[in-house]
Amino acid sequence: MKQHWKIMVWLVAGVLVGFGLQQFTEAPGTIGVNFAQQVVEVDGQVVGIRVDSISQQLLPKGRSTTESIQIGDVVSRVSINAGMADEAMVVTTSPQVLAEFLALKGSGGVATIDLVSGEKRSSLVALDPESARARWLAPFIFVADIFMRLLKMLIMPLVVTSIVTGVAGIGGGSDFGRMGGRTFGYYATTSFLAVGLGMLLVNIIQPGVGARLGISPEADFGQRSENWLDILRRMVPENAFNAFTGNGNMLQVIFFSLLFGFFITKASDKPRRFMLDLFESAFDVVMRMASWVMRLVPYGVFCLLVKVVGETGFDIFRPLGAYMLTVMLALIIHSCVVLPLLLKVVGGVSPLKWVRAMSPALMTAFSTSSSAMTLPTTLNTLETRGRVSNRTSSFVAPLGATVNMDGTALYECIGVIFLAQYYATAGDFELTFSAQVTVVMAAFLASIGAAGIPSAGLVMMLTILSALKLPLEGAALLLAVDRPLDMCRTVVNVWSDTVGSAIIAAKEGETGLGDPEIVEP
Ligand code: ASP
Repeated sequence: MKQHWKIMVWLVAGVLVGFGLQQFTEAPGTIGVNFAQQVVEVDGQVVGIRVDSISQQLLPKGRSTTESIQIGDVVSRVSINAGMADEAMVVTTSPQVLAEFLALKGSGGVATIDLVSGEKRSSLVALDPESARARWLAPFIFVADIFMRLLKMLIMPLVVTSIVTGVAGIGGGSDFGRMGGRTFGYYATTSFLAVGLGMLLVNIIQPGVGARLGISPEADFGQRSENWLDILRRMVPENAFNAFTGNGNMLQVIFFSLLFGFFITKASDKPRRFMLDLFESAFDVVMRMASWVMRLVPYGVFCLLVKVVGETGFDIFRPLGAYMLTVMLALIIHSCVVLPLLLKVVGGVSPLKWVRAMSPALMTAFSTSSSAMTLPTTLNTLETRGRVSNRTSSFVAPLGATVNMDGTALYECIGVIFLAQYYATAGDFELTFSAQVTVVMAAFLASIGAAGIPSAGLVMMLTILSALKLPLEGAALLLAVDRPLDMCRTVVNVWSDTVGSAIIAAKEGETGLGDPEIVEP
């Protein structure tokens, strides 16, 4: 069976199995709760955390509302999966551990929200580790985690070797200028188109007007605002070697690799050839590792979907339906109309042929929710199925995975305006034209600054909310439905990277892009 069909079959199977587990196993459901920062103590012993507000509550099957969590309850036994970020995950039945986690954890998913809001600690209360469903899910989660770790393992070596060889391969001077100009021109154009589309739809549909969100419209507005120059400042590493130690510093790594590759072309003959050989050889080896991991994609995708669907289910979609629909509609128009038109008109490549060729990368993006984790698959797919030259793909794709996020750009815009509409109709916030312009610029920058990891877009949204002086509580609410939207916007992010690669390859004179006859068997 062809790779893309195989992945598709496993993907659908994953959804079905996850859904089956969701329906037929007993579990306490997924509840998004905001905790008050104060823990409840009795005789100096921490006994729990008081529930401060509830953003989303699903009842386990067969339980009545009186058994559900209420505001003011003291929670003493939960397992927390902080925004799916492995690093920030704690499973605990001890209130003491929970309190320490909430107080100390400074990075990843939900904990980042804590840092910004300062006062509230919010998190997703996930499955009880002893529930039947959690036991059923455990093996799938285990395999899914190994798959994601394999992909993550490859991100840094791939980004460094591909960008250095890409830039050094293009050579200095005019070739580099032309390709760089085209690449960034494409990124900026599509991101602005995405933001514009998001703005248009959110203003037409107005999902936030009259929405019943259950959060206080009277919240005190605005504690801090963000300096946007920070994104640029943070791009320059203080210590290059430190930058390589975490997958979150991708902009710094890209910055260093671009410069390093560029100065290889300026070096004298001997070191230039040596460095080029060295990095090309390393790139070759890492790409072989990537194609080995590619073979595991169908099974990884399967386990990831069992995990996501089994943990989340579909019920959580209801309360924020209009908001989700707006985001989905914008994603669909951008990916099915705007980008294909660009591909056809500017690149002269058939969009249908291209989407077929790129499908393994798109399905990996859907199941991992991460452009960065998809990068090994993206590069492999571009070269083997897309027939984009190594010279082009190794320059355009790794940059795109971090910098070019159309789906995230339009999502930021819709999410922020949605909340602003809510505060404007329910409270006394004024959604002025200048506020809308701020959102357009901020959404564009946020999409550049967001790392290619799950939920990064939601975290970036906090900075836009604070720029508008809106309360951050709203973003915690959107967290409840972030995962499915994240999966879809990541597909659009990666799709845009591949469309960009095709357009730039075509402009560089490459032919046969995505040709089915030569596609792997
Ligand atoms: N998960 C997205 C990505 O990796 C970023 C986001 O959260 O919007 O492309």
